[in-house]
Amino acid sequence: MRCPVLHCLALAAVALPLRADVEVGRILVKNGMLFTLQADETSPRKGYLLAGEDGKILRVGYGDPPPGIRATQTIEAAGKFVVPGFVSAHCHPYQAVTRGLATDQPLGGWLDTVRPYRAGIPAGDSYYNTLFGCIDLLRHGITTAFNFNDSNGQRDVDMEAFNGELASGIRFVHGYCLPVRGTRGVRLADFEAFYAYTRPFAKRAAFLAVGLGGYTCAVQDEDYTLLEGEIMARYGLYNEAHYLEAADPAQVAEQRAKFGWFAAGGELGPRLCFGHLVHPDDEILRKIAASGAGMVWNPLSNGRLASGVAEIPKMRRLGIRIGMGVDGQASADIADPFENMRSGLYSIRARYQDAAILAPRDVLGFHTLGSADVIGVADRVGSLEKGKYADFLIIDPHKMETGPVFDPYGTLVLACGVPNVERVYVGARLAVENGVCTNPDFARICAEVSARMARLRAGPASPAGHPSGRR
Ligand SMILES: [Zn+2]
Repeated sequence: MRCPVLHCLALAAVALPLRADVEVGRILVKNGMLFTLQADETSPRKGYLLAGEDGKILRVGYGDPPPGIRATQTIEAAGKFVVPGFVSAHCHPYQAVTRGLATDQPLGGWLDTVRPYRAGIPAGDSYYNTLFGCIDLLRHGITTAFNFNDSNGQRDVDMEAFNGELASGIRFVHGYCLPVRGTRGVRLADFEAFYAYTRPFAKRAAFLAVGLGGYTCAVQDEDYTLLEGEIMARYGLYNEAHYLEAADPAQVAEQRAKFGWFAAGGELGPRLCFGHLVHPDDEILRKIAASGAGMVWNPLSNGRLASGVAEIPKMRRLGIRIGMGVDGQASADIADPFENMRSGLYSIRARYQDAAILAPRDVLGFHTLGSADVIGVADRVGSLEKGKYADFLIIDPHKMETGPVFDPYGTLVLACGVPNVERVYVGARLAVENGVCTNPDFARICAEVSARMARLRAGPASPAGHPSGRR
């Protein structure tokens, strides 16, 4: 009779080399057309993606998955596109409850109409409005967002918004906005209190960072921008500054004159990006390019508010890093990254009368890895790469009669839309399926938001002109 111990050891010796080749994950997607959106990708191809229990990508590659790969769930994606979740580098999700207002107004008049709905709001509104707005972004295929919260020193409003972001399932940078008015001490204390509030949540995978949501455009004192620079240096934060958005000549002149404040505050550099940047002069663009700062393009909102068309080709030639945002749902009333890409692409082609000046691959890159880059999270999201979060979309390009796929980038950007998005995954977990949110609490959230919207329809809580809620 053979010794059972020796027999087991002999089996183990045979099995060990095989076990080393086995890789087990939570989810395996195979046979789909893989858009990695890695910087050097030139053509999507059939491939696979394996994600682990920690929600990160273990392996991604072209062809068939290696034989040793196993997963708890396997998704057969033949005929489908597998694409990174969109990154919207400029959002105001709480605005999801104030769409369709001030339809004939540019930025100034639109702001006067919308911002009172953010002032003096009752407890719970900021939480539910932000939660609803973030879920709305997810349902449009946006898995990461930079969220301006515009609380303007209303600390409870900011904390509620933060909790709404956390509850939504979206991955986010919380764009904290310093109070527009106040002394240095008041502003710094407000930031420090909010920052301390977020620290216990710092290890949550969905919470990527606190960022600064800058409003140098709206302040009267340089101290605001100098303090932002101090905070950026001390806490290692990124800042996205609203800048040169509206076409109004007086505003353009006033904001151009403030450009030196960013350099004086030590902000101007790779951790600063400019939201909108529709009306810079050449000197400002040269300084932005030389500093390594970026910009965030919001074509849907810029069109809706008649702000103008950002000179994207010129910025690219200068080497300025470019991301894209859908802006708030009150100025780009449907938070749709497909519409955003097409609006941007078509407005640039029309302006330059050149169909080759910007390609579908370019705008897709802006709305994924480019956006992640300018807000400082490209090490974690924006492309399908080993070690990044498994945030991805399964898109059926044949749904809605989008036709045969001649050119994957062309079909995805020019012909597909939200109805083609079958599934949205965040951290390898299903967040949306065919437009339906998987959050078991979604019906209750919608009922709660509807009740609060009914009150909003009766009119804003505070008179127009209240500084809170400025954009
Ligand atoms: Zn904005």
